Amino acid sequence: MSFADGPVARLGVMGGTFDPIHHGHLVTAEEALWQFGLDRVVFVPTGRPWMKSDREVAEAEDRYLMTVIATSANPWFTVSRMEIERDGPTYTVDTLDAVREEVGDECSLFFITGADAILDIFQWKDPEDVLSRAHFIAATRPGYDIARFEREAPTRHPNISVMDIPALAISSSDIRRRVAAGEPIRYLVPEGVQTYIVKAGLYRSPGVYGDTGGRKDGGSEVTWSR
Ligand code: ATP
Ligand code: MG
Repeated sequence: MSFADGPVARLGVMGGTFDPIHHGHLVTAEEALWQFGLDRVVFVPTGRPWMKSDREVAEAEDRYLMTVIATSANPWFTVSRMEIERDGPTYTVDTLDAVREEVGDECSLFFITGADAILDIFQWKDPEDVLSRAHFIAATRPGYDIARFEREAPTRHPNISVMDIPALAISSSDIRRRVAAGEPIRYLVPEGVQTYIVKAGLYRSPGVYGDTGGRKDGGSEVTWSR
């Protein structure tokens, strides 16, 4: 497995469920690429996410394909199958160790997250342990309490940077809810991702994906794609 066609000195790693991938993810990765002078960003869709065990998550293969579709036009973005091919839950430390294995000791690793997700990382592990493996870039995210982030995350640590990005109040949960409710998602996700969602019939049943609290059976026939 390789992340690039040549040597990479500074690699960004963007982990996520990507259920589905949306423009918030893409802008975050692009800004990190630019602001931190990265050579590449590798998107790593999770296998079975341990944080989200309370709801159904779309098939890993669907999430992987949507991530490939969304990133294919950007020569500096790649997608890795390493997590979806591994059994069991995904932990950031394991992902970073696997990436390190691929790229060797000389490469600088940057783990890109939203300010919400970085707190989850520090909640379960010794921060020093995680922080020794990469430089963490925490992107500002609308609707998220940055004061809480500054209180609870070790923001003064030399291996953490807060990154301001053009605010996009887009989330995968809202996209799933919209699809189930028959609302538009055009311009929230890349066109190819929208097409894939319709083709594969993803997110149609309210409740199955856990965000609408509705019934768990019966797909509503939606006519949202125009
Ligand atoms: P969900 O609503 O299902 O949690 P999500 O939109 O948060 O989905 P994830 O796959 O959970 O997407 O997120 C992957 C990474 O991208 C996380 O680090 C998250 O904080 C970050 N991220 C997601 N959306 C945005 C956004 N709009 N702006 C900045 N960062 C984002
Ligand atoms: Mg999330």
